Amino acid sequence: MTTPTKFDTIVIGGGIIGASCAWHLLEAGVDNVLLLEKDTPASKASGRAAGHLSTYTSRKFEESIRRYCIEFHESIAARHDNVSLREDVDHVLAYTERGVEKLEELLKLDSEKLTLVDRCELANREPVFNTEEILAALLYEEAVHTDPYSLTMAVLSEAKESGATLRTEEVTDIECGEDEFTVTTEDASYETSTVVNAAGAWSGDLASMVGISLPVKPRTSQIVVLEPRDSINIPMFHCPDIGLYGRQELNGDVLVGGGTSTVIPDPDNFSTNAREEFLQYVSEQVWKIADVLDDTRLVNHWAGRCTATPDRRPIIGPTDVSGFYLCTGFNGGGVARSPFAGKLIADYVAERSLSFTAEPYHPNRFNGRERFDVKSASTDW
Ligand SMILES: Cc1cc2nc3c(=O)[nH]c(=O)nc-3n(C[C@H](O)[C@H](O)[C@H](O)COP(=O)(O)OP(=O)(O)OC[C@H]3O[C@@H](n4cnc5c(N)ncnc54)[C@H](O)[C@@H]3O)c2cc1C
Repeated sequence: MTTPTKFDTIVIGGGIIGASCAWHLLEAGVDNVLLLEKDTPASKASGRAAGHLSTYTSRKFEESIRRYCIEFHESIAARHDNVSLREDVDHVLAYTERGVEKLEELLKLDSEKLTLVDRCELANREPVFNTEEILAALLYEEAVHTDPYSLTMAVLSEAKESGATLRTEEVTDIECGEDEFTVTTEDASYETSTVVNAAGAWSGDLASMVGISLPVKPRTSQIVVLEPRDSINIPMFHCPDIGLYGRQELNGDVLVGGGTSTVIPDPDNFSTNAREEFLQYVSEQVWKIADVLDDTRLVNHWAGRCTATPDRRPIIGPTDVSGFYLCTGFNGGGVARSPFAGKLIADYVAERSLSFTAEPYHPNRFNGRERFDVKSASTDW
């Protein structure tokens, strides 16, 4: 039997959250970091996301969190030619009276950055939208999107350049000793005083290895890519009333995501194709957004695993098992929120003062026995 190798901190998960945790740990001076990923990095939720980084929902977050996330993404894009941040106007479309009331409520989040327009003004500004169906729209002028795979790989590559060790190994067991954990993979075992569980849809399984019951549920989120017959120009849109959102790719294709979301009983046994019901739903509903989207060819589709929590907020921070940290439960927003999550984990591990208000995300708000239903995808009001 070989002697376990020692690392100061082990991060489990090579998605955007694990990458951001490793990056921020190194930045905080925690040198000896091992990141374990069982598959290809960014091959799960992080590589399958729509890549919305800043949308009207960003305004629901503390201003320092919103600003830090954007600044971090800008700094990564500045250093990596293959990461581009595309600025856009996010159009939140209301189709019902209730939807219009919701838009009026959302307007209060930030009346400087958000603008409410009726269907006539929307028709003047963006004639591509189907204003026969839409009653009103909320415009968020600071929307940003990117390719989430390139972003994740860029953050990972910087973490590696700063000294993180990345190994493709699946964690099969975690044993708690007096002061240390022994983390076992199929190839090796490692000793460490600190473990960060950033395993997304698998984080519940990993937490249970150290006796923690985590109230997280993996759920589906799906995307279709539509190729318009003629060249069109459509800005970002969110349609909570019909549960769809979308944006245009650089090549003109339109990516449409959302629909209803179902719980995934076993994240390892999961089809990464969009389901037939979702394809059907998009084909029936998409004309309500813009007539031109009805005249398109389906060129791609996929499904990914998001991780839901009872209150739809992520779980970030220390647990009752000393040295075991959680960074999971990002639902449909982990790409956008990864910078602040990684920084908060680094603050905890390096015992620095916390950069953001942390209580809303602290693991101690749950006891692990919560029962909850998974709501629809990220687009519900
Ligand atoms: C279709 C879709 C659209 C989305 N759109 C957006 C969007 O526009 N904006 C946004 O911000 N978010 C979006 N999201 C959500 C976002 O993708 C997630 O919140 C985010 O990627 C979560 O990152 P993660 O690192 O926690 O999870 P993941 O990327 O799933 O990474 C977890 C990693 O842990 C690894 N792992 C698991 N178990 C083990 C083990 N035992 N040993 C070693 N490694 C292990 C997995 O292989 C995986 O790579 C979307 C998600 C989907 C599916």
